[in-house]
Amino acid sequence: MRNIVSLNLQKSINMNNNENNNEKYLDQTLRPDNWSDYIGQETIKKNLKILLTAAMGREEPPEHLLFYGPAGLGKTTLAHLITKEIGAQMKSTSGPAIERVGDLASILTNLSPRDILFIDEAHRLNKMIEEVLYPAMESGVLDIIIGKGPSARTIQLDLPPFTLIAATTRISLLSSPLRSRFSGGTFRLEFYTEEEIQRIVERSAKILGTEIAPGAATEIAKRSRSTPRTANHLLKRCRDYAQVHGSGKVDFDSAIKALELLVTANDRRILEILIEKFNGGPVGLQTLAASASEEEETIGEVCEPYLLQLGFIERTPRGRIATPRAYEHLGKTPPNHQLNI
Ligand code: ADP
Repeated sequence: MRNIVSLNLQKSINMNNNENNNEKYLDQTLRPDNWSDYIGQETIKKNLKILLTAAMGREEPPEHLLFYGPAGLGKTTLAHLITKEIGAQMKSTSGPAIERVGDLASILTNLSPRDILFIDEAHRLNKMIEEVLYPAMESGVLDIIIGKGPSARTIQLDLPPFTLIAATTRISLLSSPLRSRFSGGTFRLEFYTEEEIQRIVERSAKILGTEIAPGAATEIAKRSRSTPRTANHLLKRCRDYAQVHGSGKVDFDSAIKALELLVTANDRRILEILIEKFNGGPVGLQTLAASASEEEETIGEVCEPYLLQLGFIERTPRGRIATPRAYEHLGKTPPNHQLNI
């Protein structure tokens, strides 16, 4: 049984396969490994410090924690910092990686005492898995059903004491029984201020060995969607641009040029649809989302704020419109009715 269990464990512990490898590498390189480098989220940090100090004082593992908020705001990083603070080991997996009850059972039975089990994308755990998690979280036991039909029986295994840290971008999709079992607390990560992101960018530039002008760091912060991961990604692109077109130092001018080139492929696709299918708009969010085969939230919360900020689209009471700047960006001529925007 041990062999099957460890094979399953390997499979389930493969984190988030669809994540772009480069981005993962960048995340790891730039991930703060002490609290003072973890910028912002002050209230969460204060609460966690009390919780961790108290748990360590009692020589108990901290209670289960849930972090939620948009991607790239620092949920995984918090899990790493907590693990380090209490001197534990972290086992990582994600909701979609735990397909069967057996996958979860093998993960749980392979935990060592005081391990942190980190489950990313927890909203994608299926209901059967959630039901195995409840007693594991609440009473530290695993109920396993052996056999089928009338001869089936349940055995209960005691689990080593552990802390579950779950992260999700969609807390509303988590069932309320699961939510209620995070006895250590549920914490919502906030978007970062421009000043905080600027500090993150300056720290990241130092780690990457890149000189950056304060004005350039501010520009990156402005376009970062208030998200550290995006800021780090933009910084890296600006660094490449400065290396190819300049002295290697990210100054204000090279940052602006690099950032203009950086409208992501998806943002660009949305712009193209707006211009080509809808003649530049106005078009409602719902229609735009349907044409792009995207979720409304992705366009509304991820692409649109960025395109607005770059001055490529405008929001009007009748819907979104592409600005002349957007046409120019895509190498197209704006129609007359769009020129006076
Ligand atoms: P999430 O799990 O919420 O998607 P991560 O914890 O993986 O986000 O954070 C992505 C990257 O952003 C990290 O590797 C780190 O470089 C950076 N980051 C996130 N939060 C902070 C922070 N508070 N201070 C500094 N860097 C941060």
